[in-house]
Formats: sequence, C-alpha cells, structure tokens
Amino acid sequence: MRFDLVTIGDELLLGLTIDTNGAFIARELAELGGQIARRVSVGDAADEIARAVGEALERTGAVITTGGLGPTSDDLTRPAIAAVFGRDMYFDEVQWQRIRALWQARARPGEPPEANKQQVMLPEGCVVLENPIGTAPGIFLEDSAGRWTAMLPGVPGEMRAMLNERLIPLLLSRGRLGENVVRSRTLRTTGVAESMISEMLGSNARGFDDVSLAYLPGLEGVDLRLTVRDAPPDVADARLEARAAILRARMERYLYGQGTLTLPEVVLELCRARALTIATAESCTGGLLASRLTSIPGSSDVFLGGVVSYANEVKESLLGVPQEMLDAYGAVSSEVAQAMAAGVRERLGASIGIALTGVAGPGGGTPEKPVGLVWIAVDFGDWQRVYKGHFFISREDIRFRATQSALDAVRRRIEVPGDKTGIRND
Ligand code: ATP
Ligand code: MG
Repeated sequence: MRFDLVTIGDELLLGLTIDTNGAFIARELAELGGQIARRVSVGDAADEIARAVGEALERTGAVITTGGLGPTSDDLTRPAIAAVFGRDMYFDEVQWQRIRALWQARARPGEPPEANKQQVMLPEGCVVLENPIGTAPGIFLEDSAGRWTAMLPGVPGEMRAMLNERLIPLLLSRGRLGENVVRSRTLRTTGVAESMISEMLGSNARGFDDVSLAYLPGLEGVDLRLTVRDAPPDVADARLEARAAILRARMERYLYGQGTLTLPEVVLELCRARALTIATAESCTGGLLASRLTSIPGSSDVFLGGVVSYANEVKESLLGVPQEMLDAYGAVSSEVAQAMAAGVRERLGASIGIALTGVAGPGGGTPEKPVGLVWIAVDFGDWQRVYKGHFFISREDIRFRATQSALDAVRRRIEVPGDKTGIRND
C-alpha cells in the first residue's frame, strides 16, 4: 500500500520546526506494510493545501496530512480539503460537547472560547477521528472512488496518539494496509568504534542477503540496526532473530542492550538483581551521571546518592581525597579518581563507587592533560579499576560520553567476568 504525506505549516517551510511528524508516520506505516511514496510540506495557505492534496489524490489516492486543525486563523486544513472533496461543512455537536467537557475537566473557568467552534466545523460525510488527548478532532474523508484523506493534528503528541489509536485501526479494519511489513531490530553497543565493529563482524559486516545492516553511531555508542523489508510479519521476525543471534555472538561484551533500552536502565537492573547499590562522585560531569541514573523510574532501589565535587576543597572535605594527593597529581589524575570512588563508596555506604574527573573543555587543556581526558574509577570494594578515557568534540559530548563509559565499566564488571579492560591497580 502506497501513501502520500502532506505536512502543513509555515513553520516547516521556514525551518523553525523539523518535520518529525512525517518521519514518525513513515516509520509506523512501514511496520504495517505501508509505504510513503512522497512527502511534501506546504505552508498555511488554503490554495497550497488544496493543490498538494489534490495532486496526492491523483497519485496514490491515499493521503495523510498533519497540522492546521487548530482553532486559530492560520488553521485552514479542514475547509481547504473539504473543498477538494466538494463537501460542505457542518457543526458537529458531539465533538463540541467533548471539547466543552475537556475544557471543564482541565478546570478552566466558563465556556471554551468561540474560536474552538472552528475545530468542530467538519466536512459532510466524514469519519471523525476522535482526539485521544487534545481538542482538535481528526478527519477521515473518502470519495466514491475509494480515494481518501486523513487529517491529523500538527502537535506531535496528539498526532501520534491519533495515528496509533484511531487511524491505523481504521485502515486495518478497511484492509487498507499491506500484508508484508518492514521490521527492524536494534542492537546497542558502546565503547567500540564503528570500524572495529565492522572488523569483528567479518563476513557479516555488510549485512545479510535477507536482512540489511546499518551502523548508527551516536553519543551513546554505535547502534546496529537490522532491517527486513517486504516480508510477512512472522517471516520477518524469524529472520531478524536469526541474524541478531549471529551479531550478538560476534559483539559479545560490547553489546549492552536491544531496542530503546538505555545503559542506565541496564546497569540499574543488573545491580538490582544482585542487591548492589551505587554512589557517584563527579567532577567534570557535574552530576550528569547521577541525573541519568535518577531519570529512570525506580532507581532509588540502587542509587543512593552522589557528590558533585567540583572544587578541590570539596573533594577533600566530602570525599576524603588527601590534599597531598591533589597537590602531587592534580585533580585530573588516576589517583584522585580512585580516591573519589573509594571515598564516596565508603561515606555513602554503597556497594559500588563511581568517580569521574577530567577536562571537559573547551579551555583548560594542557599537553599532559588535554581537553577530553577523563579518568573514570569504579570501586566495588574488593575490586577496583580506573579507566583513562579520551572523549571528543564539544564539552557536552565529552561529559555525556564519559558518563556512558563509566556506566559501561560497571556493566562489564558484572556481566563479563574476567574482563581485562581498564588500568589495573590491584
Ligand atoms: P492545534 O490544535 O494545537 O492548533 P494544529 O493541528 O493546528 O494543532 P499546528 O498549529 O499546525 O497544529 O502545529 C501545532 C504545533 O505542532 C506547532 O508547535 C508545530 O511546530 C508542531 N508541528 C506542526 N507540524 C509538525 C510536523 N510536521 N512535525 C513536527 N512538529 C510539527
Ligand atoms: Mg499550524
């Protein structure tokens, strides 16, 4: 099944908003065997909207639009497309009562503004796609030849909810989606460069004849995405599983998860299962590691707390790093990193102490201690390691990559017994 997508809004043409709606819809429909044949964006002008939708109806006869369903004067999608279908507009009392109820449920005084009435002026003969979370109803319009246009809101959250909860069920019930699907699976690696992965994968580095492979590097590491195109759902799943097993075997210790799972989630779960607790001592990352851990619901089982020890005096007074050590080696040193990790572990009574100290830049680098150098220490009490990380580009990237590396050190200690990485000092 092929579709045309028309995203509407001046902000898209001005480059003020990135068309994430178009990307989301394309991905969701691909999963269900739908293919986007063409994506266009037009401004908030009735004639432009009408022309784009008219052309799309000629091409595929299956059109999804987003945007311009709001209550303001720049929201012209409804009347413009009603005109393409030659339909008059009517006032939908049911939807109006829904908007009133929503208005009151959100504890707003009085009646909704008159302007909201525009949102329930709908084309005659349409199917209303009720908005699961907002005011503007979506609209599904079909002509006698079976050509249709579905109008979804522009607000990304509302669009997603309406697509998944209203439009896709409608298209499925009308047999408007294909039998075959596009399915993907993502394996997440960290601490290993793309080029190394490709070496480790050997003859499979370019993927498989039935499953393609993409390398997606980012701040968290390199994701490996396997994709099957144009296959029945069960066949696609079986192929993905078989190929993922091959990659898993080759990537072993660099693989931390699958899909959208994040490293903080993985580490918290590994610790939770073993009743281990974590305390952090952060200098250059300023609490980012603690923040990443605590952004996961339920982290309190594992994460006890952290010290942002930016100044040397704080490293000394709160973590017990000896002043002589700071004087002798400097704050950015393997010695201080280890003393921070041991200090925070002990003082907070945690099973694991994690410490980071480095040069996040852009200034402050020296030949011996360049921008991007971060010492990462992990202390399990009976096992200690310190890692010398060299991260790059911006201050933000350096800080993030350093926390990722620290979390991965903890993961590998638990998941990969006998792992020899890190600079041993025991
Ligand atoms: P509302 O009922 O809130 O007025 P609407 O359907 O009229 O919704 P718009 O006014 O076009 O939607 O856009 C609302 C918001 O959604 C804007 O902040 C806009 O930047 C964002 N938005 C619109 N289209 C897209 C898109 N294609 N991708 C991502 N964001 C979008
Ligand atoms: Mg708009």
